[in-house]
Amino acid sequence: MKAFIKLAAGAAIVLTMQTAAFAKDLVVGVSWSNFQEERWKTDEAAIKKALAAVGAKYISADAQSSASKQLTDVESLISQGANALIILAQDSDAIGPAVEKAADEGIPVVGYDRLIENPAAFYITFDNKEVGRMQAREVLKAKPAGNYVFIKGSSSDPNADFLFSGQIEVLKSAIDAGKIKNVGEAYTDGWLPQNAQRNMEQFLTANNNKVDAVVASNDGTAGGAVAALDAQGLAGSVPVSGQDADKAALNRIALGTQTVSIWKDSRELGKRAAEIAIDLAKGKKLDDISGVQTFNGGPKHVPMKSVFLTPIPVTKDNLNVVIDAGWISKAEACQGV
Ligand code: BGC
Repeated sequence: MKAFIKLAAGAAIVLTMQTAAFAKDLVVGVSWSNFQEERWKTDEAAIKKALAAVGAKYISADAQSSASKQLTDVESLISQGANALIILAQDSDAIGPAVEKAADEGIPVVGYDRLIENPAAFYITFDNKEVGRMQAREVLKAKPAGNYVFIKGSSSDPNADFLFSGQIEVLKSAIDAGKIKNVGEAYTDGWLPQNAQRNMEQFLTANNNKVDAVVASNDGTAGGAVAALDAQGLAGSVPVSGQDADKAALNRIALGTQTVSIWKDSRELGKRAAEIAIDLAKGKKLDDISGVQTFNGGPKHVPMKSVFLTPIPVTKDNLNVVIDAGWISKAEACQGV
């Protein structure tokens, strides 16, 4: 018995040493969808930092807004030896085969920020419906009645509909009461600001410039909407929402041309995702990830093991939140004020 206990204790020590060595040898592959956008660079820095902390290697690819490129990107990350994948999906359906391939090879996948509705994947994001609610609440405060337009996200990104459902939830009673009129609603192909600007120009033309509020789903699209408003002399008099706490957007908030951005501290999202990828690569089960919950609110209602982080609205009144957190300097936020 004594000998057995000794052996078991010895085995445990060997195992611990092997696990530590294993973490050092790990390669985590990150597949970005549209890296040109400001926020993903912050996410990347956080992922790299967390991986470096345990000696794991970071490799990545950028799909440059192409769903088909992303499929070959993932294959290439797998062939470069990725032990775990973090995927920001350009198109939540088109990415399916890549996730299947990874699952077949026993490589864990973390769906990053955007839902990939496959139970083999882990899902980490901010509460996107709540982001939508926060956007609508601030716009509603600024303009409780009138003609509203909705500059939605990309139709291939489930976040676009999560956001919109949160926005409509907040505005529903005012819409039903006839106080708020939805005079234009469009997805923004690829979340591109120039597409948002074009949609906004069309809504302005169609409504003879009688647009009282703009619920834009992120800061890039808010920038496009504000450019279209500006061309008609309306920037600053029409409330506009956004999200991501992009530097340009925070500056617009300080200048008064954007009402709110929703800050999702992507330093935390990136760190958590990297830690989860490492845990899964080391053999941890999806169910054992710390803080795990089950989410089945996607279009196909697939139960997904997930972690949701909490977003924070930023307006002119609490700009200090992002300044104090070292997200942006006061000089950058308040430039030109
Ligand atoms: C993210 C937003 C981002 C948008 C465009 C969404 O899925 O949640 O933070 O602005 O994609 O890249």
